[in-house]
Amino acid sequence: MEGARPVPEDLLEANWQLPIEDLRDSRWEVVVVGAGPAGAMCALHLARAGRRVLLLDQAHFPREKTCGDGLIFDAFNELNRVGLLDAVRSLGRVVSSASITSPSGFEFHIPAEYITLKRRTLDALVAREAVRSGAIFHFGEGAHVRINPDDTVHLEIEECPRPITARVLVMATGSAVRFAREAGVLVRPQSSAVATRCYVRSRFRIDRIVGVYLRSTAPGYGWIFPMKDDLYNVGSILFSRYRRGRLPHSHEAYDAFTRSSEPARRLLAEGEAVSPLRSAMIRTGLAGSRLLGPGPVLTVGEAAGSTLPLLAEGVGKAMHTGRLAAEVIHEALAADDIRVLGEYPRRIEAELRRFYRGLARAERYVGMRAVNDFMSWRTARSPFLQSCLAALIKGSADPGDVFSLHAAVQSLWR
Ligand SMILES: Cc1cc2nc3c(=O)[nH]c(=O)nc-3n(C[C@H](O)[C@H](O)[C@H](O)COP(=O)(O)OP(=O)(O)OC[C@H]3O[C@@H](n4cnc5c(N)ncnc54)[C@H](O)[C@@H]3O)c2cc1C
Repeated sequence: MEGARPVPEDLLEANWQLPIEDLRDSRWEVVVVGAGPAGAMCALHLARAGRRVLLLDQAHFPREKTCGDGLIFDAFNELNRVGLLDAVRSLGRVVSSASITSPSGFEFHIPAEYITLKRRTLDALVAREAVRSGAIFHFGEGAHVRINPDDTVHLEIEECPRPITARVLVMATGSAVRFAREAGVLVRPQSSAVATRCYVRSRFRIDRIVGVYLRSTAPGYGWIFPMKDDLYNVGSILFSRYRRGRLPHSHEAYDAFTRSSEPARRLLAEGEAVSPLRSAMIRTGLAGSRLLGPGPVLTVGEAAGSTLPLLAEGVGKAMHTGRLAAEVIHEALAADDIRVLGEYPRRIEAELRRFYRGLARAERYVGMRAVNDFMSWRTARSPFLQSCLAALIKGSADPGDVFSLHAAVQSLWR
């Protein structure tokens, strides 16, 4: 376990998020609605580039976010770019291995670096850094959007007496679809998955990430993420789009996992749940929303479906989309030409699309019990497949290559 650096107090007091009544200026270069990893990272980069940016969130920070709290290479890269990786490492817990178990009990391990840190702390850390870099952060719920004839954005915020005008609006509202629909960016309201999590404090020690596919949770899996101080994030995910017939309630999948998986059962037998069971929707596959427009509106993070299929890992990709949006917005404002915003979907396609294709394919196949069992059995015996999966988690291999027929065939002798 990492050293016990205490969470800085001002991080959790959040006097750096101002009330909406105190919002004086009504004209902004950029307004970012939603201060999760996507929105806060976007505001941070824009502020560091010298842009006048207003960041808004309907929640009082620090706020809870229903999440597995796990981070991998892509989040490390984005945090490192803005100088926050060391803080995250020292506030969180570093874990160096994951075990994955198939529905019939075939188990394999993926050695890699994983960090767990409560989203309450992580998101506050990034939003506070955005404020330190010059962004203005207010409490406020985006309510209505209209594009003015001069191509600026007219924005109404709940309980704010005056509307706001922005040259560019960034939609960073996560899996909540109401405001995205209002702004005209929503294409498909259905989510890709639903996931449930609970914090458990236990004397039983688990030092690795645990992922378990059960027949009753398919298509989906249960997880245990070890955190600091004998705390564990325990949860389950159900992929909604491959299920024929009735999708079990997400709490049923959680119950099935904690009753029948041996590590989860022992964790609860020697400990107790210390939070309510919470569920949330997940939007994956870079689909479901327009990345650009109508008007000068860019969609980032889970609002753009940026969470990865299969892994449901979304923090790193949310930050990445936030950074790309910030770069393009800065260029558009510097050139005084909003047509430059058209670069944003192109950069997303060029830098990110390849991560989604192979994982979407894998997500479909792991929902088939026989395929899942066979591939897990092969992986447990194939050093080649094990190294492919480790490379995937470390970001040095493409999911399209790892989850391919070519790799499956090679695993027969490697
Ligand atoms: C149970 C579960 C487990 C997960 N586990 C992991 C994991 O282990 N690792 C990982 O990387 N990812 C995980 N994810 C995915 C991850 O949570 C998302 O990918 C990530 O939060 C997306 O970041 P975001 O900034 O796009 O959206 P969010 O983090 O959802 O932030 C959106 C913000 O917008 C605000 N907002 C919404 N509407 C408005 C409005 N109208 N006005 C103002 N503010 C508004 C919200 O209050 C919120 O703060 C998990 C998800 C779930 C549900």
